[in-house]
Amino acid sequence: MAKKQFKAESKRLLDLMIHSIYTHKEIFLRELISNASDAIDKLYYRILTEKITGVSKKDFFIKIAVDKDARTITITDNGIGMTKKDLEENLGTIAKSGSLLFKNEEATEKAANKIDIIGQFGVGFYSAFMVSEGIRVISKAYGEEQAWEWVSVGADGYSIKEGVKEGVGTEITLTIKEDTDDEKYGEFLSPWQIKSLVKRYSDYIRYPIKMDMEKSRKVEAPEGADGAAGTNDADGQAAAPKYETYIEEETLNSMVPLWKRAKSKITEEEYADFYKDKFADFEDPLKVIHTGVEGVVSYDALLFIPARAPYNYYSKDFEKGLQLYSSGVMIMDKAADLLPDYFSFVKGVVDSQDLSLNISRELLQHDRQLKAIEQRLEKKIKSELEALLAGDREKYEKFWGAFGLQLKFGLYDGYGAAKDVLKDLVLYYSSSEKKLVTLGEYVSRMKEDQKYIYYATGESTEKIDKLPQTEMLKDKGYEILYGPDQVDEFALKMIREYEGKEFKSVSDPDLGIEESEEDKKKAEKKAEKYADLIAEIKKVLEGKVTDVRLSKRLKSHPVVLVSGEGGLSLEMEKILKQMPGAEAAGQRKAERVLEINADHAVLKALGKLYESDKKQIKTYAGVLYDQALLMEGLPIEDPVAFSNAVCKLIEKTAQ
Ligand code: ADP
Repeated sequence: MAKKQFKAESKRLLDLMIHSIYTHKEIFLRELISNASDAIDKLYYRILTEKITGVSKKDFFIKIAVDKDARTITITDNGIGMTKKDLEENLGTIAKSGSLLFKNEEATEKAANKIDIIGQFGVGFYSAFMVSEGIRVISKAYGEEQAWEWVSVGADGYSIKEGVKEGVGTEITLTIKEDTDDEKYGEFLSPWQIKSLVKRYSDYIRYPIKMDMEKSRKVEAPEGADGAAGTNDADGQAAAPKYETYIEEETLNSMVPLWKRAKSKITEEEYADFYKDKFADFEDPLKVIHTGVEGVVSYDALLFIPARAPYNYYSKDFEKGLQLYSSGVMIMDKAADLLPDYFSFVKGVVDSQDLSLNISRELLQHDRQLKAIEQRLEKKIKSELEALLAGDREKYEKFWGAFGLQLKFGLYDGYGAAKDVLKDLVLYYSSSEKKLVTLGEYVSRMKEDQKYIYYATGESTEKIDKLPQTEMLKDKGYEILYGPDQVDEFALKMIREYEGKEFKSVSDPDLGIEESEEDKKKAEKKAEKYADLIAEIKKVLEGKVTDVRLSKRLKSHPVVLVSGEGGLSLEMEKILKQMPGAEAAGQRKAERVLEINADHAVLKALGKLYESDKKQIKTYAGVLYDQALLMEGLPIEDPVAFSNAVCKLIEKTAQ
C-alpha cells in the first residue's frame, strides 16, 4: 500500500505542530472532542430530519480510553463517521482557512515565529501531532458497510487501507511521544489529567464524554471480625480498613451547554475558552453577550465580539451568521438571517425551542420567530456596544479599529435605513480634539453661531488635516470631523443630520458662515477689483470648471477646488471613478469650482500681469488649476504641459 504525501501546505503546518514549542499542548484533546461532538451533531440531525427510528439522543457518546503501557489515548465517537474520500480530504489537508495562509513559505516562517498560531487557523485535528508520534484513525461512515483505516507517523505521509470496525463512527488512537527533559507527555496518560482537561475545556459538550476511572472502595470485613468499623481486635489495635480498586465508567462532562448555564456561575475564562474553541480564534473575545429571553419567542443567545477582524472579514469570502440550535440540536452552522450586515462580525450561538428542526435556509428567511429573534439580538448588540462606548472607551476604540468600517458601510447601505441604529456608534477623528469623537460629543461642543457639522474626507487623517479647504474653518475655531474612508462621504450623506444639525463638507460651495458687515464689504470690494481678471481666468478654464471665484475658506493656500452646486461632490467623483464599469458608464464628473485666495500674493501678481500682459494669464491659470487638482488628489489632464509650464516659471525666476 503506497504511502501518500500530505499536501505541501499541510506538511508545513504539520512540521510546525511536531516541533511546536506551544505551551498549551493539552488543547489537542479539546480539538478531538469537538470534532467528535460535531460528528455526532451531524448524525443526530440526520436522524431527526430523516425521521430514522430506533436511535435516540441517549445512544450517542464519546469515549476516551487510556493505555499507559502502550502509551496510547483512544477517542471514540458514534457520530457520522468518514468515508475513504472523507479521510483523504479532511485529514490529508488542513482546514481551508489555514491552507490559504500557509500557501507560501514566507507566511509559514512568519507564523512559525508566532507561537499562537495554533487554533488560529482551525488546525483542529493536526494539533494531535503536538503530543503524538503516531496517529491511527478508523472510521465507518453512516450508511456504509466498509470501515477505513488512516495511519500517519508524522510529516512524511499517511496511508489508507480497509479497516475493521463494528459500528458507525470514528476511533482515533494517538501514540503519545516519549517524555523529554522539557516535556512530560506521559502526563496525558493519566486518567485524572484527562478528566481535568475535559472539565476545563469540554464541559459544555452536549454528549457524554465517558472514561473508565479507577476507583476504590472499602472491602467487606473478613470472616470472624464483626465488621463494624472502629472495633478493636484481640491486641487492642484498630484493624486497618481494607480497600480494593475497581473500574467504573464515569461521565466526565456536565453536558449543560454554556449558554444554558447561569451567567453568575460562568467565569470569563470559561467564556473565552468556549469562544476560542468553537470559533477557531486564538485571541480572547473583546466582549461577551450572554442573554436569554422568555416570551412569545424564547431563546438563549451567547454572542461574542472578536478582538480583531478575521483576515478575510472585508472580502466577499467572509460568511456571516450565528450557529442556530433548536432545543439543543444544531440545525445550522451559519444562520445569516440572524445578523444584519452591519453586525456581521458577531459570532455566537442561538438556541430556541420555538424553531422547527426541518427549517431550510430559504424558509428561514421568512420565519417569523427568527425575524423576532433577529430584531431583539440587533437591539441587544446595539445597547451592549453603546454601553461599551460609555463605559470603556479604550476597548470601544479597539472595537472601532477592527469593525468601524463595517458600521460605516451599514450607514450607507439601504439609503441610510439603519442610521438610527448606528449613528451613535460611529467615531470620527476631530480636528480640534485630535482624537476620535462621537457625533453627540461634536454637537455638544458646537459654537453658538455654528449651523453645521463640518466634515472633510480624504485618503488619510494626515492628508485631510492639510487640505486647504479646512484652513479658514479651523482658524475660526470650528471643529471638523475627518473621514479617511471612501465610504465616509456616502455614510455621512445618508445620516443627513444629527440632533437637527446638518452635515456639511468643507468643499461645499456654501459653508454657511455668517460674515460681519465689514467683511462683506471688503469682499465685495475685492471682487470688484479683480472682476475682469476672474472673468478672464474663467474664460481660459472653460470646460474645466463651472465657475471661478474669490474664496472665503482659504488662508495660506492660493487656490482650492470645491464642488459646484450640482449633486455630485468631488469626493464622490473620485470614488465612482474607482468602481468597476466607471469607464463604460461614461464617468460622471462633479461640477468643479476654482476658488482663489483673495489675500494671496498670487492674486495680486496675476492682477498686475493682467494689466501688462493679458495673454500670459492662460498659462498661469492652467498651472493654478492643475495645482488645485493635485492638492485634491485628482489626476491632472496633461502632466507634461504642467511640467513644462513650471519649468518655464523656474527659468524666469531662478536666474
Ligand atoms: P475543523 O474541525 O476545523 O474542520 P479538523 O482538522 O479538526 O478541522 O477536521 C477536519 C475535518 O475532518 C472536519 O471538518 C470533519 O469533517 C472531519 N473530522 C474530524 N474528526 C472527525 C470525527 N471524529 N468524525 C467525523 N469527521 C471528523
